[in-house]
Amino acid sequence: MTGALRVGGVTRLTTIDFPGRLAAVVFLQGCPWRCGYCQNPALIPADVPGSIPWDDVIAFLQCRRGLLDGVVFSGGEPTLQAGLADAVVQVRELGFEVGLHTAGMYPERLAALLPSLDWVGLDIKAPFDLYDGVTGVPASGAKVRDSLGHLLRSGVPHECRTTWHLGLFQIEQLQALAATLADLGVAHWSLQTCRVSGTPQAMPPEAVLKSLGERFEQFSLR
Ligand code: SF4
Repeated sequence: MTGALRVGGVTRLTTIDFPGRLAAVVFLQGCPWRCGYCQNPALIPADVPGSIPWDDVIAFLQCRRGLLDGVVFSGGEPTLQAGLADAVVQVRELGFEVGLHTAGMYPERLAALLPSLDWVGLDIKAPFDLYDGVTGVPASGAKVRDSLGHLLRSGVPHECRTTWHLGLFQIEQLQALAATLADLGVAHWSLQTCRVSGTPQAMPPEAVLKSLGERFEQFSLR
């Protein structure tokens, strides 16, 4: 199955995408959602062939044994591709730890992968009832709520990440989201503010940031 894996790109070395590890990032092609702030729109089309053969990725990783700690699968949405599970096994067999960046849209696929993962970065795009407005997809929030439940029950180290600007939802809703995540047991939350073109970057007031951060064992602002 991995031969059919459509790889849209590789970052050969990163110190920031897999906490505490020197890692490579493998970007898988395709995503069914349409977030307006998507950083990787070229990776959204699912019918685009991969630009790097999976066998070339494996050959590259074989050369990096002992030099890299881990490999992160990102996207697009990596859990879209059925070949991901076999790819994770192959990478583990080379001796690497494996991380996953996911938007959590396929909760059962994530649940099946979790025993093979060392870390997960899960996007939490909005309060669950406001998801459709961010992703353009009906009932998308319920999928992510299920994925978060699987992740928290698994005990796999994680970071939940939220991208926010005022055009997405209000500060009060951001505060409610933080409360929901903390109540569910999220330990590490990362908030990333982004800019809408033509407007200055909006940042929650200092006091709000402080109250958001106090809810989590680890809080980062990007
Ligand atoms: S889920 Fe991620 S890859 Fe897909 S459209 Fe949204 S931001 Fe882009």
